Amino acid sequence: MTIQADQETVIVEAFINGHHVPSLSQSPKENPASPAEIVGYFPVTTKEQAVEAIESAAEAFKLWKKTPIDERILRMRKAIEKIRAAENEIVHLLSREHGKPLYDAHGEIYVSLMWMEYACNEAASVLQEEVQEHDYGKTILSYDPMGVVAAISPWNYPIALSTIKIAPALLAGNTIVLKPSPFAPLAAAKVAKLIAGEFPAGVINVVHGDADVGVELTSNPLVAKIAFTGGTATAKHIIKAAADTVKDMTLELGGNDAAIFLDSFDVQDERAMRRIVISNFLTTGQICMIAKRVYVHRSIYDAFVEKYIEAANRWIRIGDPFDANTTVGPVNNLKQKNYVQSLIEDARKRGAKVIPLGQILDEQRFDQGYYLQPTLVLNCDYHDPIVVEEQFGPTVPILPFDDVEQVIRLHNESIYGLTSSVWGREEDAISVARQLEAGTTMINTAAVQGLDVRFPFGGFKQSGIGREYGAEGIRTYTETHVINVPATLDLPYIPE
Ligand code: NAD
Repeated sequence: MTIQADQETVIVEAFINGHHVPSLSQSPKENPASPAEIVGYFPVTTKEQAVEAIESAAEAFKLWKKTPIDERILRMRKAIEKIRAAENEIVHLLSREHGKPLYDAHGEIYVSLMWMEYACNEAASVLQEEVQEHDYGKTILSYDPMGVVAAISPWNYPIALSTIKIAPALLAGNTIVLKPSPFAPLAAAKVAKLIAGEFPAGVINVVHGDADVGVELTSNPLVAKIAFTGGTATAKHIIKAAADTVKDMTLELGGNDAAIFLDSFDVQDERAMRRIVISNFLTTGQICMIAKRVYVHRSIYDAFVEKYIEAANRWIRIGDPFDANTTVGPVNNLKQKNYVQSLIEDARKRGAKVIPLGQILDEQRFDQGYYLQPTLVLNCDYHDPIVVEEQFGPTVPILPFDDVEQVIRLHNESIYGLTSSVWGREEDAISVARQLEAGTTMINTAAVQGLDVRFPFGGFKQSGIGREYGAEGIRTYTETHVINVPATLDLPYIPE
């Protein structure tokens, strides 16, 4: 199929060994805010092309792993500057293909660059080999690159969740094959291409598609490590695909993050109310670490709900992602919209009260796009699907609890354990936080508002394996190699 590019239409190709690879078929990517508009086209990479990308990364690894760390950092810093220079262009493309408002798309670049800068600043010391002289001889501890990394990212933060892998993997001396999600492939491919321009051919390769390509990336014997962010169900397929070759993997998966409001929380605190609303509805609720279920102490429950509705109606303005007044855009895709809607309908049938939130700025666009009005769900049972499933969209249940033991139990009985938040007097909140099974717990804030890229991020239980961000998020792309020079070469207990 031949497709002509006009000014508005972006066409991406697979990028292998420093070259664009023409594809036989292309898929359209629509704008979720007005699905008749095609933002661009992306290829469906064939199995052969995926293998070619992996082989090119394996070949490039032979030289790249020997490149001094200073040069790796220098190249990554140049890539950061390129992204910074192209920020507006990237943000517009991201907003059009994803549906997130412009401020939110800028936020994604902000977090991406913050992490890339951190990784550049810390890589040399985090990856520095350690030499120890001790009573038993000498030990050299080095952090060696692993080889080819298959990086698979989701659609909700396509740039941040690609660069979170690219930067540390390359700084640690690995090469990479990136596969963005087919639901947001264009801006991630553009950023990966900008970065690739600063590195030798084959160090970064980009392929496109869904599970078919994913299976090749996760089973090919030349791939040493999988860095995956996405759903828990997909991760289970990946673990099976990787089993035969026992690959290392970092898995950042789903969550059902709870926000817990203790009786010491001040419901009159309007800034805090705004923060929890943002923690529920930023990026239309489509963030792994969004607060997806809210538990409020019964003594403040009624007042909380009243103030929450006021705050939500102030902050939530649903509209065109390009309109500066918009705070909440459409859902990214129809499948996700239908799923969230089905959870709300199910809750309604079970007797829940569903309250629409916010104002719709543009009714016509709302009807055309994959929009879903944000809702608050009350009177549901603790174990209703809308409470225990990861809804990943613009709806949130708020439930009362009677005592701290009960809410800790409700929190911890989830199969997930990504992030959580506790709101109220600081010492009380920290005391509850210590008892929660979650990779990150935030106090008096939640979701990206409490994210700190200097510290490890990841999940307990079925929310994942391993950590990204922080020093751990760099070392995770290495194998620890111990070189021992024992002082005593012959062991005394082994007979002559
Ligand atoms: P998804 O699992 O459907 O897809 C993620 C990626 O995996 C996509 O690139 C997809 O094409 C690819 N894929 C699909 N099948 C595959 C297979 N069999 N083998 C290899 N790759 C395959 O997830 P999604 O819908 O894109 O993203 C939403 C999910 O991601 C949510 O569950 C969310 O919580 C999770 N997420 C987690 C984090 C985190 O840091 N823990 C961050 C963002 C999103």
